[in-house]
Amino acid sequence: MEFAPTPIQFLWEDEQGNRLYVKREDLLPYSFGGNKVRIGLEYLADMERQGRDHLIAYGNARSNLCRVLSNLCCAKGIPCTILSPADDDGQRRPSFNQRFCEGFGAQIVPCLKTGVRETVERALNESERQGRKPYYIYGDATGEGNRATPVRAYRKLWPELLRQQAELGFSFDRLFLASGTGMTQAGLLCGRLLDGGSMEIHGISIARSEENGKAHVRRFLEAFLGEEYHGPEIQFTDRYALQYGVSTPEMAACAREVFRRYGMPMDLTYVGKAYYGMTQEIRRLGLRGERILFLHTGGTPLFFDGV
Ligand SMILES: *Cc1c(COP(=O)(O)O)cnc(C)c1O
Repeated sequence: MEFAPTPIQFLWEDEQGNRLYVKREDLLPYSFGGNKVRIGLEYLADMERQGRDHLIAYGNARSNLCRVLSNLCCAKGIPCTILSPADDDGQRRPSFNQRFCEGFGAQIVPCLKTGVRETVERALNESERQGRKPYYIYGDATGEGNRATPVRAYRKLWPELLRQQAELGFSFDRLFLASGTGMTQAGLLCGRLLDGGSMEIHGISIARSEENGKAHVRRFLEAFLGEEYHGPEIQFTDRYALQYGVSTPEMAACAREVFRRYGMPMDLTYVGKAYYGMTQEIRRLGLRGERILFLHTGGTPLFFDGV
């Protein structure tokens, strides 16, 4: 699947002369868009390369990745199983993403966040018993062995960003994005390392601690590179991180204001949280006269869930 470049849109200039632009990955024309479209396509391509015929994913009911994967599998007639953990409090909240997964015919297996390994092993064994060749997106039952695949998605996007800068006639000083697992940020860092570019890449953690988040970004990076990473320091802040799916009234007010003023929707699990964090970081770092790019990573169905 090939896509035209997603638009880069100017949003505002602040009193310090910082100019904010947004790259609208949420407008990718497949299954409500977002970074998981590019990442999902990489998993599907990897699975087909390996000649497997049953996709097994892990993700909660609100997972954007599971929605995209189940859509791709549905279109190709590939069976898709989603191992779906309950929230930390044991609850299962209804969500549009889950409804789409069901509508695409994915088999949804409820599980707990504890004992993931056993759940994955069971699913893999069951699939093999049925004569299938299962593909677990995170590698083996311990979740190891497939870190390079999702990193490819945003490593491949990097040249598009460089071309768009050339067309605009300037370079961005910084890029901000919502960082969760860190696969998107790792892809961008690989792109910068391999193709060049000077923009600082700031991951705004949505849940993980700085130490843990940086370690995850590094693991993805090194899995892709096949060697240790000695490039510029990984920027990943947990100043705005809260429990997964939890946001503050300030974040909600900020996202509402952006929607009212610019017509750009942001969910509060990822994008709204990171956008709010970026506005705080611009102040905290005392930025002046910079050109700043925010990567809108999607999550549109979550916007309608109101989370
Ligand atoms: C998954 C996701 C992210 C985080 O991407 P990672 O690669 O996991 O860090 C950000 N925004 C949205 C909307 C997402 O679905």
